[in-house]
Amino acid sequence: MNKKELIIILILIVIISILSMLIVNELTFNKPSDNNTISRQTIANDTNDPGTVEVIKNIGNPNGKRIAYVVGVHPLEYQTHNTLVKLLPDSSNLKNSYDIYIINVTEDVGHYGDGSSDNSHGRQNGQNLAYKYVYPEVLKENYDLVIDVHSNVGAYPYKTFVFSPVKEGLANQLAGEVAQNSENITYYTPDSTTSGPFLTIPLNEKGIPAFYFEEYSFASQDIKDIHMTELITNVDKLFS
Ligand SMILES: [Zn+2]
Repeated sequence: MNKKELIIILILIVIISILSMLIVNELTFNKPSDNNTISRQTIANDTNDPGTVEVIKNIGNPNGKRIAYVVGVHPLEYQTHNTLVKLLPDSSNLKNSYDIYIINVTEDVGHYGDGSSDNSHGRQNGQNLAYKYVYPEVLKENYDLVIDVHSNVGAYPYKTFVFSPVKEGLANQLAGEVAQNSENITYYTPDSTTSGPFLTIPLNEKGIPAFYFEEYSFASQDIKDIHMTELITNVDKLFS
């Protein structure tokens, strides 16, 4: 084999390698049924923080309104958070585009029944992560709507509800529309929220509509699935 033949063979190997990489890339990242690519990224992972923050991006129709869900502000409410993370990315025929911000508190998560003082550390850790990382990211991305997902132990007159902590403005109207179209989701505003000042209130004040979804913590998984599907469906009907 002379030098010229060797160079030609090397060039062919390079071309074949690049082509195979492109094909593998296409197969791995583009599901044939989707016209866009869902990705999951870590946006905060600092050992000084009491947890991490991830985002799942590009769910649904990339040409629709841009809507962000936030889960994990209160770590004990994870069953409801997991329900959204399970159901939304698999929802078909969505009209709008969705990102899910996931706060993973790893310090002082607590568990139900261990006393409110223990629980409050985990709640505060999640609220701090929301304010430090999710709030600025949501402002930067300038979403059309943000929904903060929570659950409650049943101390309110309603168990499954939506509300905006800021009564003037679009969020209040949009939450009202969701409740009106939902069989199982009511509009109800609790007297106070601990997490409002860390996410939904400043967002509303900056002109980004943000409302809460609250589920009953002790509802069965089947019921949680039904309610979450109702939320996803009726949020997707907004802005039409
Ligand atoms: Zn909560």
